[in-house]
Amino acid sequence: MTTTLPQSPKTQLPASRIHGMRPLALLAPLALLAACSSVPLPPWTPGQPAAVPAPAPAAQRPSSPVIPPAAVQVTPVAPATPYPPAAQAEAPAPYSAAVAARFPAPSVTYNTPGLQAGRSAFTTQAEIQAWLREQAAAATRTPGIRASVLAIGRSQRGETLEALVLTRAGGTDPAVMQAAGKPTVLLVGQQHGDEPAGSEALLVIARELAQGLLQPVLERINVVIVPRGNPDGAAGDQRATSGGLDMNRDHLLLNTPEAQALARLARDYNPTVVVDAHEYTVVGRYLQKFGTVQKFDALFQYATTANLPEFLTKAAEEWYRRPLLAALKAQNLSSEWYYTTSSDLADKKISMGGTQPDTGRNVNGLKNAVSLLIETRGVGIGRLHIQRRVHTQVTAITSVLASTAQRANELHQLRPYLDKEVSAQACKEQAVIEAGPTAAQYELLMLDPVTGADKAVNVDWDSALALRTLKARARPCGYWLSAASTVAVDRLRLHGVQVMRVAEQGSMLGDSYRETASTSGERQDVRGAIADGNAIIKVQVSLTRGVVDVPRGSYYVPLNQPMANLVVAALEPDTQSSFFANQILRGLQSTVRVMAEPTIKLEDL
Ligand SMILES: [Zn+2]
Repeated sequence: MTTTLPQSPKTQLPASRIHGMRPLALLAPLALLAACSSVPLPPWTPGQPAAVPAPAPAAQRPSSPVIPPAAVQVTPVAPATPYPPAAQAEAPAPYSAAVAARFPAPSVTYNTPGLQAGRSAFTTQAEIQAWLREQAAAATRTPGIRASVLAIGRSQRGETLEALVLTRAGGTDPAVMQAAGKPTVLLVGQQHGDEPAGSEALLVIARELAQGLLQPVLERINVVIVPRGNPDGAAGDQRATSGGLDMNRDHLLLNTPEAQALARLARDYNPTVVVDAHEYTVVGRYLQKFGTVQKFDALFQYATTANLPEFLTKAAEEWYRRPLLAALKAQNLSSEWYYTTSSDLADKKISMGGTQPDTGRNVNGLKNAVSLLIETRGVGIGRLHIQRRVHTQVTAITSVLASTAQRANELHQLRPYLDKEVSAQACKEQAVIEAGPTAAQYELLMLDPVTGADKAVNVDWDSALALRTLKARARPCGYWLSAASTVAVDRLRLHGVQVMRVAEQGSMLGDSYRETASTSGERQDVRGAIADGNAIIKVQVSLTRGVVDVPRGSYYVPLNQPMANLVVAALEPDTQSSFFANQILRGLQSTVRVMAEPTIKLEDL
């Protein structure tokens, strides 16, 4: 018998958590918060986005009403200078004309540099840089709009990674934007170099925000855009960075300069919403395993990892996913939960996006941001259907921007509420150390590669919507780290984690780890071994409670802070994503779980 996965968020949660998930119960803490604020909290309307945006506070009210676009419209612009004709002909389609006919071009034509007729290459890094500067200059011609192009880091081959900041705050530096009291949306494209549609779409979005039909949303929100997270991979049309690492499994460890740049940007601009734009494999291993071509214009998933606040998941589902699916449908674009499958052809299981705290999607969730993954059908098909792929991305991202503008006041209150809720859990109850997906059956629609007709395939399906707890421990008050743990301390601080220094010798009550078994191995995701290079230490541990002497100059990482769940993911040693397993922390004795609030003198770093 086949059971399809439920669409309602209620049934995506374990039964024990359904009760008490009623909107009113969840709203109560926010309502209390709102009582202290001059801005009344709009009513919580699950599943029904407001018909019109709530009015902006009087001081910020724009001269004309802000109406987020109901459907994607692109500002007509003069055609750019034509590029020389393509040096090579377009590669033949990897499937029949009948399949291709299922994906007609959209009515709108996008014209970024890389989408010009006759081009064979996507937008180059130099063209992206010129485009961002052009948009920043255009944006600031509108009174009140501030724009900056930031150099946020360098790729492994030395390309400058850039971000465009657009705001109506008094300036583009983080403190000024934060003080303006509006949510910031961070949009990231092309972390995987062979997934170009996200990057091209973000150039379109940048132009629409700077000088086009999306400009009114800047009345309500700030936007930071990194069109291309992995320029070296893009130049080589490869998934990984130039050093061979998958940067989208590096967002907790921060071994690559590319992931470090994005972490620094997120730390400084503290986004309320993060969108990660990718593309997925259309033919390849699906044709080999199932004899099918993949069907959906868009695959979507929010953060699904251990210890996320329920309210965050609920906001992602009700404020973002539902309007996004409706926006896609209105454009005749199909969608499904994000899924992938292993590169092992004998393994026919289909898995939703992983539950490990290593992807941008999950790590930004651990930073209490609404974190959304959007994938278009594009890997392995070159430029085929590129206008439709970009249109899908533009439609989805426009929906996210509109949802954020509609909910700007609520989101501005949601974030401090979540930060407070997570901080308040220190020393209490349990923290999940490791969680996994739930095995299910799913009827997944694919396409017949010859006729192009829908083909339903019953698959074993790992659902990331209901997490199974694999390992849990009492949640500590914080972690002590040895004085030698400087690399780990630097990485935590790059995430925005507060780390303190032990100012005088003393002692703490804590649990020390003792190794009971250890092997080496590779990090795995649902596709197989992660392109990573380094072996990991897979350790099993027991805990010993005791009074631990802590020298001056060692470190303390309190859990009564917003990033507490990211700290747990990094510092509990016996998981594949941990700093210990990945040798950022050396030796189990470098870390102690501190089980009572320390009374010794600590100082901020
Ligand atoms: Zn990707």
